[in-house]
Amino acid sequence: MTQTLALLGGPKAVTVENKDRWPFITDEDVATVTQLLRAGEISIKAGTGIIQEVEEAFARYLGVQHALVQCNGTSCLHAAFFAVGVGYGDEVIVPTYTWPSTATTVLLCNAIPVLCDVDPRTFCVDPADIERKITPATKAIAVVHLWGHPAEMDEIMAIARRHGLAVVEDCSHAHGATYKGRKVGTIGDVGCFSMQATKALPGGEAGIAVTNNAELFDRMLTLSHYGGRVERDSLTDRYVRFAFTGFGPKYRVHPLAAAIARGQLKHLDEHIEARRQNLEYLTEGLSGIPGITPPYTAAHVTRGAWYGYRLLYDQEQMGGVSKERFMAALRAEGVEVDVERYRLLHFEPVYQGPEVAGTCPYPPPEVRARMCTYKEGDFPVAEAIYSRLMSLPTFTYQPCWELLDQYAAAFRKVADNISQLQTDDTLT
Ligand SMILES: *Cc1c(COP(=O)(O)O)cnc(C)c1O
Repeated sequence: MTQTLALLGGPKAVTVENKDRWPFITDEDVATVTQLLRAGEISIKAGTGIIQEVEEAFARYLGVQHALVQCNGTSCLHAAFFAVGVGYGDEVIVPTYTWPSTATTVLLCNAIPVLCDVDPRTFCVDPADIERKITPATKAIAVVHLWGHPAEMDEIMAIARRHGLAVVEDCSHAHGATYKGRKVGTIGDVGCFSMQATKALPGGEAGIAVTNNAELFDRMLTLSHYGGRVERDSLTDRYVRFAFTGFGPKYRVHPLAAAIARGQLKHLDEHIEARRQNLEYLTEGLSGIPGITPPYTAAHVTRGAWYGYRLLYDQEQMGGVSKERFMAALRAEGVEVDVERYRLLHFEPVYQGPEVAGTCPYPPPEVRARMCTYKEGDFPVAEAIYSRLMSLPTFTYQPCWELLDQYAAAFRKVADNISQLQTDDTLT
């Protein structure tokens, strides 16, 4: 059906307002935070009170033995890499398509992030490329369950076992996601979850690391805390002598953030379910449009938190119309669409090998001298995906059927009338 695109003066396809807002703070969150404030509980040194509550509740939620709440997800990753033994001159394999913290925390350990390509369908780290990147210096593999889609954990764990490597799962996009029925974060040696405000389990600024290994817990504890916490909460006696000093960082969480996370955890499953229903509905609505590939979800996984919704655009199938022009047309229709705001890490200056030695303080120059200088073409899959990515909002806590119908209709309208974009060259 020929319809004039809104970009060219036609009526908009999307008329329903997007009322979704995140985080979804409850009255209970407000009450708990107020109560702590009134009690003067604005710093808790040990794992007591609200700190203990959120750690125990999250460990129960995942079915894991130990949980350590921290000031953010980045600090969890640093502690996790340290805990599994990543140190001076070691290499850790990290996907090039992730949030920067997954890799910069490897630098913090004076080690080298060795970047790795991703799977074209799931966008998660590609096990075959992991295997290619292993050297005698490799110590660990960092896995990211990108946009909630679990990485191929069976293959990754098998590679890790074969080569004696540790596995750290960055689950910041994937709270509650499952791989073959197992919750992510419980499969590798340590699971790290950001609880930053935009994440599906928000504390504002907070993170939580989980493990079934007491030694790893104690190492994370001792890197991240000093004083009371190490003394009181160590599970073994190996690190207690470091309790007064710790190992430098102080990654203690603010109790108010812990309280928000504790309250939000009670609603996590319900929010996951709302996201799942909305985003699967959207995917159904967008399927069958030539040139648009909605997110792929493998049959053996669930996406849990579904932190982002990314789809792929095919310029050729859209009659040569550029992604930017297609997006301009969608925006005119009322769709909140964006390009990918993450950047592939291999183009970032901290990974441009020895060049930034002495500017970026980690790793030391003699280790940095071993870092690769990456160039365009080094990660063909990630680069090909990246140029085609479009991002839509996630619809987080309530059904949005009417709006989602209109989103799908807007995509269809622009795709069906793509010739209007081919002939109109007033746009760039
Ligand atoms: C948000 C995020 C982090 C970092 O978490 P912060 O709490 O912001 O420090 C790490 N990894 C991924 C994949 C993230 O999305």
